[in-house]
Amino acid sequence: MVDLILKKGKERSLLRRHPWIYDTAVQKLTGTPSLGETVRVLSKEGRFLAWAAYSKDSALRARCWSFDETERIDRSWFESKICKALRAREPLRTRTEAIRVIFGEADQLPGLVVDRYGDWLVTQFQAAGVEAWREEIADILMQETGVKGIFDRSDAATRHREGLQERVEVLRGQEPPAEIEIQEDGIRYGIDVRKGHKTGFYIDQRDNRLLAQKLAAAFKQRHGRGMRALNCFCYTGGFSLALLAGGAEEVISVDSSAEALAMAQRNAQRNGFAPERSRWVQADVFEYLRQARDAGESFDLVILDPPKFASSHKHIDRAARAYKDINLNGLRLVKEGGDLLTFSCSGAMDVDLFQKVVAGAVIDSRREAWMIARLGAGADHPLMMTCPEGEYLKGLQLALR
Ligand code: SAH
Repeated sequence: MVDLILKKGKERSLLRRHPWIYDTAVQKLTGTPSLGETVRVLSKEGRFLAWAAYSKDSALRARCWSFDETERIDRSWFESKICKALRAREPLRTRTEAIRVIFGEADQLPGLVVDRYGDWLVTQFQAAGVEAWREEIADILMQETGVKGIFDRSDAATRHREGLQERVEVLRGQEPPAEIEIQEDGIRYGIDVRKGHKTGFYIDQRDNRLLAQKLAAAFKQRHGRGMRALNCFCYTGGFSLALLAGGAEEVISVDSSAEALAMAQRNAQRNGFAPERSRWVQADVFEYLRQARDAGESFDLVILDPPKFASSHKHIDRAARAYKDINLNGLRLVKEGGDLLTFSCSGAMDVDLFQKVVAGAVIDSRREAWMIARLGAGADHPLMMTCPEGEYLKGLQLALR
């Protein structure tokens, strides 16, 4: 067993059970651990701190498995963590077939993402530690879930930082179909686990899709007609379908990707929505919003769910300007009495900054807006309180008064 000894004072974050150890905190190692090998982490004074997975090339030099000296990091340890994660997601299964069953640090399995789509699992091994235990993890997942197969989508660029190659392949069982169909809150979605974003679907927006559906239904009840809505960055139509299911009269969905729009249209057909209720527009949202305003368009609800504009703190200023731009131009299209649902999935931008940026857009738009709710990811993406870096998706529901 190799010991990883920290520099003086660098044990503080571990004593608060934060699971990351940066290269700059490491004083020395008593041997040369292999990639992903479990090491014993000690303070400079020799106090036991954690069991961690070592990653020799990464700035995140080690990620902690456990802070309990009596635990052994072996197959049965992984079994217990995986079973605990699966059990915690059980209640969601009455609502949906798309569930993040393992969410890395939150499930004490740093760097591991496992998403379930009906009878299939899709994995992402994003750190050397979980990669070293890949076969055991795959066996346990097969045994505990009874799925038809596991598809590995370990193609995130972050793997290079961990000294790992990208890998996309069937990990266990059968080859998944080209499109897996799942149901969520009564709506059907097709998911391409090979080429889709993340593992194929924005599972994290589940509760916000349901909110959109409810807003559309409430509007119809109040006004006796369906709303007119704009869904920007629609991808495969998650929010668009929710709005149509809620009774929206017309939904305009905008995305720059022809592939995503094609899948979104197939998804609308899958649910039997009349084609004249939706319009699918391939365009750059920044330009589309300006053109729509020039054309005098207005909507009862506008949704903005862009890709991550800030990949790190370095890009935060540029990202803030981009968020401000779409929020300002999005707000201008909302009818008096209408709503805006606006999101940011940039982990580098915290909720306070996001709210400030959106408030800036409200001021510049010369509109009056109430914040009705702060929004976030669903219950299958919990935040480990000791690791705030896990928080990334945030949203605001604004009502224009
Ligand atoms: N709202 C979606 C997820 C959005 S992902 C959902 O709930 O499923 C971000 C999407 O923005 C991607 O589909 C990507 O193709 C699209 N995109 C990125 N930059 C864009 C731009 N400038 N204009 C339009 N679409 C863009």
